[in-house]
Amino acid sequence: MRLLVIEDEADLALALAKGLRRQGYAVDIAYDGLAGWELASVNEYDLLILDLNLPEMDGLEVCQRVRISQPALLILVLTARSQAEERVAGLDQGADDYMVKPFHFAELSARIRALLRRDMRVRAHLLQYKDLKLDANARVAWRGNRRLELTSKEFGILEYLLRHPGEVVSQEQLLEHVWDMQANPLTNTVRVHMNSLRRKLEDIADTACYIETVVSQGYRLGVVALPDPQESLL
Ligand code: CA
Repeated sequence: MRLLVIEDEADLALALAKGLRRQGYAVDIAYDGLAGWELASVNEYDLLILDLNLPEMDGLEVCQRVRISQPALLILVLTARSQAEERVAGLDQGADDYMVKPFHFAELSARIRALLRRDMRVRAHLLQYKDLKLDANARVAWRGNRRLELTSKEFGILEYLLRHPGEVVSQEQLLEHVWDMQANPLTNTVRVHMNSLRRKLEDIADTACYIETVVSQGYRLGVVALPDPQESLL
């Protein structure tokens, strides 16, 4: 899950990003409305955390524009107490939820989880493919009965693949959804994490491989045939 924090109070923005990254989200920050709008237009986010009182472009305008260009993108608005009443009207501009500052991080985090859960039409949180299972809310994954010990990037890759079974997923798509802008898309970072994920998935002897490399295109979740010992006897 990739989030964008649009907040001009740098201390708050950095604290939010740090807390959210610790929970496994990829997080980008924009410090004014215009920069936020530009990032939201070029990157694919799952949720925006949007302050309303912003330089360069007002938060409400960002909200309106995003609603038009990306109707399904979740928006959580942050507003100062003094502005709360007038700004709640801003929900009419298409925000999905709002929080009044100051707030506790734990509450923000719970609201974010609730919004992402509510968004279940497209993202059921229990994902399964064969004997691979993943709970996106609890952030745990299993192969069969074995719980997988995954890093947050490995988890993100696996979640993305499980949401697109059978589709070829490019490295760029994975960078868009699993990494934030701290990632350097020129590095082979996706491949490195993919390799370690594969090792963790497939370290049971005699089980099928699930992540196929599609040459010069990307990766596909599917059963990669291993010789079946039963068949080879026939
Ligand atoms: Ca502000």
